[in-house]
Amino acid sequence: MKYVLALDQGTTSSRAIIYDETLAVKGVGQYSFEQIYPQPGWVEHDPEKIWQTVQNAIADALTDAKIDAAEITAIGITNQRETIVVWDKRSGAPIANAIVWQDRRTADTCHRLKAQGLETDISGKTGLLLDPYFSATKIQWLLDEHQGARGAAERGELICGTIDSWLVWKLSEGASHVIEASNASRTLLLDIASCTWDQQLLDTFSIPGEMLPRVVASSGNIAEATVAPFSGVPITGIAGDQQAALFGQTCFSVGEAKCTYGTGCFLLTNTGNQVVRSTSRLLSTVAWSIDEQVTYALEGSVFIGGALIQWLRDNLSLVEHASEIEALADSVPDNGGVTLVPAFAGLGAPHWDPEARGTLLGITRGTSKGHIARAALEGIAMQVTDVVEAMSQDLGAPLARMKVDGGASANNLLLQMQADFSGLQVSRASNLESTALGAASLAGLGAKVWSDTATLQTLWQNDSDFNPALEPPLVNRARQTWLRAIERAGQWSS
Ligand code: ADP
Repeated sequence: MKYVLALDQGTTSSRAIIYDETLAVKGVGQYSFEQIYPQPGWVEHDPEKIWQTVQNAIADALTDAKIDAAEITAIGITNQRETIVVWDKRSGAPIANAIVWQDRRTADTCHRLKAQGLETDISGKTGLLLDPYFSATKIQWLLDEHQGARGAAERGELICGTIDSWLVWKLSEGASHVIEASNASRTLLLDIASCTWDQQLLDTFSIPGEMLPRVVASSGNIAEATVAPFSGVPITGIAGDQQAALFGQTCFSVGEAKCTYGTGCFLLTNTGNQVVRSTSRLLSTVAWSIDEQVTYALEGSVFIGGALIQWLRDNLSLVEHASEIEALADSVPDNGGVTLVPAFAGLGAPHWDPEARGTLLGITRGTSKGHIARAALEGIAMQVTDVVEAMSQDLGAPLARMKVDGGASANNLLLQMQADFSGLQVSRASNLESTALGAASLAGLGAKVWSDTATLQTLWQNDSDFNPALEPPLVNRARQTWLRAIERAGQWSS
C-alpha cells in the first residue's frame, strides 16, 4: 500500500492527513496556533510556530496511521494564501512575524497606487485587484518598516515566500526556495499569462527580484523532504487552499465549479487554459500548473455565508446550534415575503459595495422565526447565485454542475435552494475535506500513485445531488425580489 501525506496549513490550524491509494484517510493530526493582533486591522502569525505545529501534526498523523515516515510515498501541501514570510537566507530565521492575508495595514499604499491610476495595468497582468489582501504590499511593508531589511534584501541576504515556500524550505532544510504557481498568482507580482515574475510590478512595489522564490508546477518533482522524520521523501504536489479544493473536487474541465460554504463562501470555476477577464471584478487566478500546462480559474467570494447562521445563533438566539437552522427554516413552506441581505460588512462580488449594510425586508405581523431562518438560507444561496451569474457571463456560457463542501454544505435545504436559484446541479462530496484531498491528489499524481486525473475522478465520491426543481417563473420572481433588496442594502449607506 502506498501512502500520501497532505499538509493543510490553514489560517488558524495546521493539519496533516495520511491517505492510502484509494484516498481513504488513514491518520490525522491537527494543532492550532496563536493569532497575533498587534494593532486593529493587523494580523500576524509566528512562522516558527507554524512550522512547529506542522511537525507536531505530522507526528500525530503517523502515529494515528500506525506507519513510519519511510512508508510515505509523497508529500502534498496546501496552504492559507497570500500570507507572507521574509527570512534570512543563511540562518533561515524569519525577520518578523508573517503578515497574514487578513491584514489591512497596507490599505493606504493600495489607495495611493490606485490614485496613481495603476490598478488597471496591475489587474491586467495579475488578474487581481489592488488590495492589501494580496502579498506584494506586505513584502514592501516589511522591507520598509523593519530596520535594516531593505539593505539586507538588496545585498541578497533576505528571501521571502508564501506559506508553501516557507514549508518547503523547512522540509528541505533550506535546499529549496520555491513557490507553487497558484500561490505565486496571489502575490500581485506574477504575470499570470506567462507565469513569470514581472519586473515592472517588482519595480512598482519596490521589491528586489532576487528575494523571490522560483516558480514551480503544482504537481511533479518539486523538492525533497529531508528533515526528520523524513530522509528523502519527495514533495510532489502543492496548491493554495481554494485551488486545492477545486482540484480535490475533481473540477478538471472548463465550467466545472466548486463552492465552499464556510464562514464566507468561496466559488471557483475552471476556465481551462485561458485567462478569462471578468467584467464584474471577479479574480482571474492560476488554478494549477501541471506538465507545462497552466489551468486558470475565476474566483468570487461572498463575505457572509455561515457567519449569518452564527449571527442568528449568537446575536438573536434564534437557534442554539447552527445545525438547527435547517429544521427551523423547514417549519414554514416559504419565506412569507421576507428577504434578508446579510451585507454586514458591505457586499463583495459582483456588487462591490463596501458601504452597503444588511437589510431585513418584508416583515409583517405574521413573520415568524421560521420565515427569518428561511430568508437567511435564501440570502446565502442568492449571494452565491449572484457570483454564479457573473461567472457565466464572464465565461460566455452557463457553468456545468457545482460541487460543494464546507461546514454549511451539511444543510440540505440550503443546497436545494442553491440548485433552484442558480439552475445548476449541486453535488455534495462525501469527503468534505476537499482542500487536503486536493493536495494529496496533486502529490499522488506527481509521484505516479495515480496515473492521471481520470483515475482521481473514479475515486471522487458523491454524497448527494440537488437538482433545480423550482419553476422558472418562480425563480425569476425570487431573483428580481432579491436584486431589489440588494439595491436597498446599497442605498442604506449611512
Ligand atoms: P470555516 O472553515 O470558515 O471556519 P466551516 O467550513 O467549518 O467554516 O463551516 C462553519 C460555518 O458553517 C459556520 O459559520 C456555521 O454557522 C455554518 N454551519 C454549520 N452547520 C450549518 C448548517 N447545518 N446549516 C447552515 N450553516 C451551518
